[in-house]
Amino acid sequence: MRAATIHGPKNIQVESVPDAALRSSRDAVVAVTHACVCGSDLWAYRGTAPRRPGQRMGHEFMGTVEEVGSDVETLRPGDHVLAPFLWSDGECEFCADGMHACCRQGGIWGQPGADGGQGEAVRVPYADATLVRLPDAPEGPLVPALMALCDVMCTGHHAALAARVRPGSTVAVVGDGAVGLCGVLAARRLGAERIVMLGRHPDRVALARRFGASDIVRDRGTAAAERVRELTGGSGVPAVIEAVGTRDSLQTAIAIARSGGAVGFVGTPHGVGDRLDVRQLFDRNIALGGGLAPARAYLPDLLADVLVGELDAGPVFDLTLDLPDTPRAYAAMHERHALKALIRI
Ligand SMILES: [Zn+2]
Repeated sequence: MRAATIHGPKNIQVESVPDAALRSSRDAVVAVTHACVCGSDLWAYRGTAPRRPGQRMGHEFMGTVEEVGSDVETLRPGDHVLAPFLWSDGECEFCADGMHACCRQGGIWGQPGADGGQGEAVRVPYADATLVRLPDAPEGPLVPALMALCDVMCTGHHAALAARVRPGSTVAVVGDGAVGLCGVLAARRLGAERIVMLGRHPDRVALARRFGASDIVRDRGTAAAERVRELTGGSGVPAVIEAVGTRDSLQTAIAIARSGGAVGFVGTPHGVGDRLDVRQLFDRNIALGGGLAPARAYLPDLLADVLVGELDAGPVFDLTLDLPDTPRAYAAMHERHALKALIRI
């Protein structure tokens, strides 16, 4: 089969790899129909996150079940399924708590030894627990709406929960990538009344408004923090979503948080290290929550909203390419010509 692999910074290739195959009785093999490129894939693309030469790429996909192991009970060949970006066993103490991202048997697509989502097929461990069955073969605008659930929409939702967004909340979102934009949708879905988006890219700002942002702040750093405080009566924002993962963005998120408020951070940390201003969190009683999203826990509810047409993060996709063109998808996102790419397999 063919799959996307990485061979060094800015070197993505689509090449022949061993066919995905069952290894355990609880596995399924899924023939992938659609995959995506994630903003977090770009850390590997740029060489910031280490990868082994030839390692598979992609952790967002959906497709059709091709084969199931003898202990798989709920899935049959031919079923249409969506995968969260992590697999999980559904039965350890963390899965029981809804924290599937910390599953004892869990992992992420594309880690060494595992198939990646950007390829023709994927071996899925703990298939019953990991995969979510779809009612029909998705078509048209439902495809991008569903694909956003693999990671970015669940991650935006996780950030909104960690930021304690509730009906009537004022929320700020730091980061105008796909996750930040999904954070706007998630905050709106949870009943936020006012949503301030920090971003400056014209297309992304326009999409933020369409998703429910009421105010846009184009400044950065301390100027952004001042502007947000001005907009929100001087005391800051009770619920802040951080969706970038750099030291600057996390500092901005903490700076604009209202004393007693919460920051939900879901941008994969890069270069934050030990330089976080913990004293500020202490002095101002700011809660810092979030992390790797337990997408599997959120999928049933979010999927239900997508299927009835009440939730659609599909517009975050602004580029669709076929599997052989996957390297172009990375380049377009890296150069910020594309917000998020959908890959047809
Ligand atoms: Zn588990």
